Amino acid sequence: MKSIVWFREDLRLLDNAALTFAAAQGDIIPLFIYPESLGGASYWWLHKSLESLQLDLAKSGVELIFRTGDCVQIIEDLVVETNANNVVWNRVYSPSGIADGKRVKSALNAKKVGQRSFSGQLLIEPDAVKNKQGLPFKVFTPFWRHCKQVLAPERPLDVPELTPIIEKPASEKLAEWGLIPSTPDWSQGINDRWQPGELGASERWETFLDESIDEYQQGRDFPSKPVTSYLSPHLVFGEISPRVLWHDLHDRIALGTVDADNANKFLSEIGWREYSRYLLFHFPHITESSFNKKFECFPWQNNDQLLQAWQQGNTGYPIIDAGMRELWQTGYMHNRVRMIVASFLTKHCLIHWSKGMDWFWDTLVDADIANNTASWQWIAGSGADAAPYFRIFNPILQGEKFDKEGGYVKKWVPELALLDSKYLHKPWEASPEILEQAEVELGLNYSYPIVDHKEARLRALAAYSQSKELSKFN
Ligand SMILES: Cc1cc2nc3c(=O)[nH]c(=O)nc-3n(C[C@H](O)[C@H](O)[C@H](O)COP(=O)(O)OP(=O)(O)OC[C@H]3O[C@@H](n4cnc5c(N)ncnc54)[C@H](O)[C@@H]3O)c2cc1C
Repeated sequence: MKSIVWFREDLRLLDNAALTFAAAQGDIIPLFIYPESLGGASYWWLHKSLESLQLDLAKSGVELIFRTGDCVQIIEDLVVETNANNVVWNRVYSPSGIADGKRVKSALNAKKVGQRSFSGQLLIEPDAVKNKQGLPFKVFTPFWRHCKQVLAPERPLDVPELTPIIEKPASEKLAEWGLIPSTPDWSQGINDRWQPGELGASERWETFLDESIDEYQQGRDFPSKPVTSYLSPHLVFGEISPRVLWHDLHDRIALGTVDADNANKFLSEIGWREYSRYLLFHFPHITESSFNKKFECFPWQNNDQLLQAWQQGNTGYPIIDAGMRELWQTGYMHNRVRMIVASFLTKHCLIHWSKGMDWFWDTLVDADIANNTASWQWIAGSGADAAPYFRIFNPILQGEKFDKEGGYVKKWVPELALLDSKYLHKPWEASPEILEQAEVELGLNYSYPIVDHKEARLRALAAYSQSKELSKFN
């Protein structure tokens, strides 16, 4: 028996249901198809992650085949070239990913070639969770409460023994896909911060368990404290499976070697990841339009000047600028700061959430269609279970609360490093003498605020009232 294993968002050998199934049947032919339309930072990650998978497979003499084009055509051709009897893959949940899976399935059925898809990305499949009326949940808390009652993920599968096929099919070269930027190469900061691949993912997980999980609940909102797991890009590319996280934590809770409250808080964040995929599965239109239809009448503004200042970290609000610069330099931004910058763009600047989402898509190493869409809509107020619109983050107070000592701002906005912490989140309130001592020249080496917080807040509330009125007529 020969099986093609179509790797998608599961770039790992451990706990890979499709791979384990195929390996038990006989020889395997692993395939990866060039994904269209990832962002720049994700392509960087993908390259490194594929290199790592390629090396891991090569240890068993198995060659990863790279091809570009339509998945149906590629898989049909490879079946003929290799005489494969079977094609297997782990399911993905984006609208285009689901559509591709369905097309491949029916093409193979028509040709009487065996095919099977597996669950590999989630603790629970989206169609297995419904409320009492048999409808999809639209609020996280009851969704997760329900999941916790029914969840019984199987134990992770071991890395299987792999046997390669003798005659190797043709493959494109990963290096020729040009996923790593060259002119210019902007990836230095990203390269310094991350170790993509399955080994990097498991080491990151071990470090989190050893060093920070017991501080997770208290510390996760403070961007200068490295207490979150930093697993997000590893999870996006499937380098570690959620079942591994689930069982490792439950085993440790049972042994008493991890604090249960912290572990459960972490698992509820994994729950948010499940929920985002669940929403996207049941409401695929949310990548394009507001979940809450009332927001289709919202008077969004087109303002390229504000958008650019936000993208470049030059808004004059230090916590926003620190976040946007962390993102640009490392491909990552702390979750609390993601919420503050997203609120600022959609509410202070009245710029449509999709513009922020697109920027994140291009610059995040963990860019994920489900998490990105759900989170942007949640912050903008247009999402399922969204934060109430009138809760507009005040970037000064948020900075003072979550970066009190200013460690985060000073790291990413070095032009403010000498400024007294009393003024760090509102430099425009410092006297000329204090600014001079701190070598800050507003309007020259650091921007004045691009919008006034109080005015922007009132404008946002007025826009919201206007959209509520307009939506009555739609
Ligand atoms: C505007 C905005 C956009 C976002 N875009 C993305 C994105 O493109 N990709 C992405 O993975 N996350 C996104 N998030 C969610 C969150 O910010 C990141 O998952 C988190 O910061 C990753 O850091 P971590 O792995 O250290 O998180 P931890 O706190 O260690 O959490 C563990 C895991 O839980 C999941 N998770 C945590 N928070 C959330 C959340 N709010 N929603 C869904 N899953 C979550 C992630 O997979 C994360 O790796 C976004 C949040 C906001 C506010």
